[in-house]
Amino acid sequence: MKLAYVISFYLFLNSSYSQDLYTYEKIDSTLHVWQEIFGNTPHSSDDYEGFGVIYNLDTIGYSSQDNLPIYAVKLSAHADIKETQSRVLILGQCHAEEIYGVEIAMEIINQFLHPEQFQGNRTFLQKGLYFTEIWIVPTYNPEGLRVVHGYVEDGDEIQDVTYRKNKRDTDNNGAFDFIDGIGQDTDGVDLNRNYNFNWIFGDTLLQSCDPTVSDCSYNDDYDYYKGEYPESESETQAIVNLAREENFLLSIAYHSSRSGNVDKNVVYPWAWEGKSTIVESPGFDVISDLGDEIAELLGYSYFGGSKSRRGNTHDWLYRENGGIQYLVEVGYTDDASYGEGFLIEADHLDEVIESNMDAFFHLLMRAAGQFYHNEFLDQDFDGGNLVTGVVTDANTGLPILDAIINIPELEGEILKPRKTDSEGYYSRLLYPNQTYTLAASAYGYNTSDIINIINSASGPTNEDIQLSPSPIYDLTLDLQFPDDENTELQLIIQNSFISDTLAITSGEIINLPQDHYRLVFTALGYTPQVFDICLEADTEILVELSYEEVIWEANPSENWVLSNEEEEISIPLSNSTAGENLIIEINFRYELEWDYDYFIINYINGSDTTDIMRLTGDNYVYNTDYILFTIPEEHENGYLSLYLDKDDSIDYRGIDIDYIKIMLREQDTSGCFDSGDLNFDGALNILDIVAMGNMILADEYAIIADLNEDGNVNILDIVNLVNLILYG
Ligand SMILES: [Zn+2]
Repeated sequence: MKLAYVISFYLFLNSSYSQDLYTYEKIDSTLHVWQEIFGNTPHSSDDYEGFGVIYNLDTIGYSSQDNLPIYAVKLSAHADIKETQSRVLILGQCHAEEIYGVEIAMEIINQFLHPEQFQGNRTFLQKGLYFTEIWIVPTYNPEGLRVVHGYVEDGDEIQDVTYRKNKRDTDNNGAFDFIDGIGQDTDGVDLNRNYNFNWIFGDTLLQSCDPTVSDCSYNDDYDYYKGEYPESESETQAIVNLAREENFLLSIAYHSSRSGNVDKNVVYPWAWEGKSTIVESPGFDVISDLGDEIAELLGYSYFGGSKSRRGNTHDWLYRENGGIQYLVEVGYTDDASYGEGFLIEADHLDEVIESNMDAFFHLLMRAAGQFYHNEFLDQDFDGGNLVTGVVTDANTGLPILDAIINIPELEGEILKPRKTDSEGYYSRLLYPNQTYTLAASAYGYNTSDIINIINSASGPTNEDIQLSPSPIYDLTLDLQFPDDENTELQLIIQNSFISDTLAITSGEIINLPQDHYRLVFTALGYTPQVFDICLEADTEILVELSYEEVIWEANPSENWVLSNEEEEISIPLSNSTAGENLIIEINFRYELEWDYDYFIINYINGSDTTDIMRLTGDNYVYNTDYILFTIPEEHENGYLSLYLDKDDSIDYRGIDIDYIKIMLREQDTSGCFDSGDLNFDGALNILDIVAMGNMILADEYAIIADLNEDGNVNILDIVNLVNLILYG
């Protein structure tokens, strides 16, 4: 009897893995059954003593074409509340045919819910739930997954086991246009090309394989369409929104390779090719360290930073808020060619799932900051090299959302600031035995002292930070119009944390925390007024408005596009005289290769060139800038030159200019220019270092940049500036 029981148990296991794959319907029903059993009451297992509800089923969005729910399961010791814990994101499936990851994701949930069946993993299950929050999205391409497994729509049987994309109706003909077999499907967007970072480099609609560039025998035309615009697909938006809400520390995104060309591979952000040197992500050591361990546990011999720029999830996530995602190309046999059946070696599914469970648990323990012994590698793994903490208001004790956690050793201009979540929580991985510094800042608060992180291998380093609120001051706005009108003005308030636009009238008082601000006052028909102020007491500002005097204006019916170095917009200033103050109003958007390509506005007079503006990086939403400029004394026949200075290797979206208007303005506005604040953004930060570096290269001098007042702007001033930024 006992033998018979064992045999049937094994048969059951086999059938559950290989013959009964997770279709979308099966995912849907299983997740709901689990919600019924585990989603409302604490788990009954002795392994989870003291834990609350460990399972919570959520719908994070709907698919683009068929409006199918996209499910996310949250697993934690108290899954029904948000805790101050490191978070892990598992993306089981993006590409429809790549079904290995669906099985792995569902098995991860299954093991947490049934610890009695997986006692070998008991420690991981306990510690994972206790110390972290785990979010699992079995599929975020449900409509594609339905195509792979087949279903009936309006009486038609629809199935293509090699389908990759979502079902986006790209030609709006109301029908789903696909061809059974690899590639050639004219509908659908590749969700892993649709993220808003390096999106421009993905394939355009109906782009075919180019035989002069690649081997086209694989016949995968149209499979990599990036979508009409970044984040055009609701599936992508669902992941973007979840990631912004949860600030994941670590993540795995499962894929698999039909061609077998990139089989059994671990890819992480980033080590881009295409330039004379590889461009690595800031903090790459920390990322690759864990990535290489994951590859070792999986027995994969290919691993490394992602080589190409093309709207991928992992590069976007890391840039956006620091989440480190490993793309695992799941496979079993090296260079397996899957033909046109399911992209899975059914006979080896158990082994594939098992090795991926090991790799997942390894990543999970890193997020948990817990020491453990890995039996497969027979190796101890440190539990620390992680800094975590909560940022709170020193007066109220309440958490501060969006406080910026700056660890300069892990950052660079290409990355967005790393911020606290709604609980004030942050967590960052560190590299063993390296030293780090950390500072926290938030709008309306004094910046923290610099904290030296003592990086411990034995457990997470906890740094809770209390920030004191800055004093609030009255800013009284006294507006004076010619002819005594009292028109409503638009006021733009900018500093390193905010950019707000308000409608104001004269006499209005606004309250702002102590800080540096740029204030721009605009109204139709009047010259914009710009003030750079240090608000350190109650302040009254007299804004004397004058009718605008336009000396040059262009508002072309189509945008100017600057996409190569040959294009220049040249604006003559022949009617201007020395000492005249100008304001340049320019509405534009830009996306330029960070630190290699620049949008430059120069004043050129004979052989003299003055830098007026120099921008790199991106802000690809139309925005109006107001740039102040005074015609120099030696002016004779000078002009403004707007152009793109690029290094000719990587073409981002470039610069689109909607309009330019140059006006006369009154004398220089009062205010404060702090030493070192070279770009006048009211903050001392990396941008000022960039501006200073550019001044040194251009051999320019400005008193505010000469921090050690030795009459030169040089590397010593950069050292001073870095110290100012770090230590205030
Ligand atoms: Zn894939």
